[in-house]
Amino acid sequence: MALDKNIAVLIGGVGGAKLASGLVEAAAPERLSFIVNTGDDFWRLGLKICPDLDTLMYTLAGLVNLECGWGVADDSTVTLDSLARHYQIQPWFRLGDKDLATHLLRTHWLRQGRSLTEVTTCLAERLGLRATLLPMCDDEVPTIVDTLDRGELGFQEYFVKYAWAPVIRAIRHLNCEKARLSEQVRKALLEADIVLIAPSNPWLSLAPILAIPGLRELLERLAAPVVAVTPIIAGEAVKGPTAKIMRELGLDVSAREVARYYGGIIDGFVDDLRNEPFETEGLRIVQLDTLMIDQADKVALARALLEWTGSWTR
Ligand code: GDP
Repeated sequence: MALDKNIAVLIGGVGGAKLASGLVEAAAPERLSFIVNTGDDFWRLGLKICPDLDTLMYTLAGLVNLECGWGVADDSTVTLDSLARHYQIQPWFRLGDKDLATHLLRTHWLRQGRSLTEVTTCLAERLGLRATLLPMCDDEVPTIVDTLDRGELGFQEYFVKYAWAPVIRAIRHLNCEKARLSEQVRKALLEADIVLIAPSNPWLSLAPILAIPGLRELLERLAAPVVAVTPIIAGEAVKGPTAKIMRELGLDVSAREVARYYGGIIDGFVDDLRNEPFETEGLRIVQLDTLMIDQADKVALARALLEWTGSWTR
């Protein structure tokens, strides 16, 4: 058991949350820091919505709707239905009634002048999380998806409203040049014995984190090894648009391409044993069963990858 290790994890939403729930059992939760993508965040009906932070938070609090991987289990949509029926507000973004409590409180605290980092800490504490949840930064850095069919779309329009059907030309992170690394994120990375990159979507979930000025440089000079896990298994994404985006960007849909994308940052890569093996100079690669269907799979992968990285130094 890696109970004596500080672990920092760069992470997105549903795919990342699977590994997160394995890690809290395979390592000491108090020594885990999740640095979470907030490029998907947006404002809806005056409320600040942070989909990836909430997916992680609900997962680690045991509240998540396991069928979809996001949202609160056994939630209702009375508010959303009333908005649609009485006020003709299109309910394209699903917000459950229990989930709304989080958005109301988060927005209330933000309006009082607290930072997203502080607000996230307070929400996570009240839900009893033992691990640390950190937004990638306190600035708003919305992901904009430039599509062939519909031009530029806000992330949630692309992802939810149009169900990631439009063809991607480019992805940008609005205002990222002005974003600042928070002290909490910097500290979590500097104190980490190992940094993991979850099997999240590299282009939609990890790219916004890596776009924060100074973050790549910090990762490059850390003493701790940085290890990524493949989101591609047998030439496909397990869920979501990762493989589709790779094709649209003219990339080969393979774990090798994902490893290449993280090149310069990572020291190790956890590939899936269903993939064609590959080698890259200077990169340690292991093939493990990375398909996480139930909790036992999640814990097994977390244990295996922590064991593999063992006592590495850079
Ligand atoms: P989102 O922000 O909710 O879209 O979720 P993420 O970005 O965190 O994760 C999406 C990625 O997770 C996709 O590329 C999936 O292929 C990957 N993924 C989902 N489940 C698994 C799994 O069981 N194993 C692996 N290796 N990848 C997974």
